[in-house]
Amino acid sequence: MSADRRQELESLFHKHGYADFKWIDPQDIVVSQWVRMKCTFGCGEYGSNATCPPNVPSVEECRQFFGEYYTAAVFHFQKTVDKPESRHAWTREVNLKLLELEREVFLSGYHKAFLLFMDSCCICKKCAGERGECKRPKEARPAPEAMAVDVYATVRKYGFPIEVLTDYSEAMNRYAFLMVD
Ligand code: SF4
Repeated sequence: MSADRRQELESLFHKHGYADFKWIDPQDIVVSQWVRMKCTFGCGEYGSNATCPPNVPSVEECRQFFGEYYTAAVFHFQKTVDKPESRHAWTREVNLKLLELEREVFLSGYHKAFLLFMDSCCICKKCAGERGECKRPKEARPAPEAMAVDVYATVRKYGFPIEVLTDYSEAMNRYAFLMVD
């Protein structure tokens, strides 16, 4: 992508209130089988969120998807919550706002624009649980983890902070990916 086009998009990101983002090479996105294993075993959302496994492409298909892009941006969000449940309202708000950006990037001529949410969908209070039953299918997007992205390894390549947290009093570092081209 030319420097001019990048600058145009950066102005758009700023217009939407985003300052904490970096351009990344999609080929640096680490896709790993272990991520899918963690979604399948050990995550309470398995089978109950229409944008999470098993309602997503296979790990190999995810790898192929990322291989089809030349340009992407990662957006960093930091937050501390009083109780774990408060995370969902914040996620919903962030994801809905990001969708507005995805749409504007698309309308700017980037027909491949595709957003990976900051966390699992959370648009509805209770998720339909199955892709075909999704209540807002035009808006629902998978999170990077649902697409088998090793978010830790990927964002660390670009100097972003991310650690395993042991207590909710610690600040969460979350990431959304916008596939652009
Ligand atoms: S839009 Fe609603 S039903 Fe669809 S994945 Fe998101 S939370 Fe689930």
